[in-house]
Amino acid sequence: MRRPLIAANWKMNKSISEAKEFTLRFLPSVSGIRDADIVIAPPFTSLFAVADKLAGTNVELSAQNAFYEEKGAFTGELSPLMVKDAGCNYVIIGHSERRQYFQETDEIINKKIRACQKHGLNVIFCIGESLAERESDRTNDVLQRQILNGLNEVDAQQLIVAYEPVWAIGTGRTATPAQAQEAHQFIRAQLAKIYGVHADSIRIVYGGSVTPENVDSLMACPDIDGSLVGGASLNPESFERIVKFKRRTT
Ligand code: PEP
Repeated sequence: MRRPLIAANWKMNKSISEAKEFTLRFLPSVSGIRDADIVIAPPFTSLFAVADKLAGTNVELSAQNAFYEEKGAFTGELSPLMVKDAGCNYVIIGHSERRQYFQETDEIINKKIRACQKHGLNVIFCIGESLAERESDRTNDVLQRQILNGLNEVDAQQLIVAYEPVWAIGTGRTATPAQAQEAHQFIRAQLAKIYGVHADSIRIVYGGSVTPENVDSLMACPDIDGSLVGGASLNPESFERIVKFKRRTT
């Protein structure tokens, strides 16, 4: 049985004081949850302050990105060591917004994943097809390419895959549970080609307009092991409800 993982991706939202305010409201509401990993990925400016609030709680910290070099002349970048130093156990790599706006290729993403794992970070590796790719029946080809290139020489340990169809991110248009399950099943089969039996323990989480209203039906799917939540994670009450999704009985 894979342990569910629910992660908040705040993207470029919240000041330091807003981030602290969120944690003050959110933490007590989920303090009793022991059967899921709960992760928050604030912007870099709030990492340190949020780490302070999360210390000793059941909620962990993630960065939204990290560069693949350890240090040096890379203005504007942060290394895996730096985000670890700021208190992160997790890092999101390959988010579609980074692929789209910052020209991150599969090769760059692969270098980042390897560098982050080397420094003990759990990597949430994002993949997903665009609307045009889905409508032209290329979803599986795209997922296969992103997996093969992104996971080249990557360890199955400390790896979480996030299936995030680009057409569902921030659009209010969620994949149906059947669409998401089909993609997750395909992803797991690709992971099995690389990792054999170890693929079974890799968590595959769904992201794309997850809300308190649709989380239960998504989480009921056998290959959906959690969710990566953008918009609905900005409000503590709505993220709390998502973290408290209806547990499967089997
Ligand atoms: C995301 O940014 O990873 C995401 C899934 O966003 P949203 O939930 O807003 O679609």
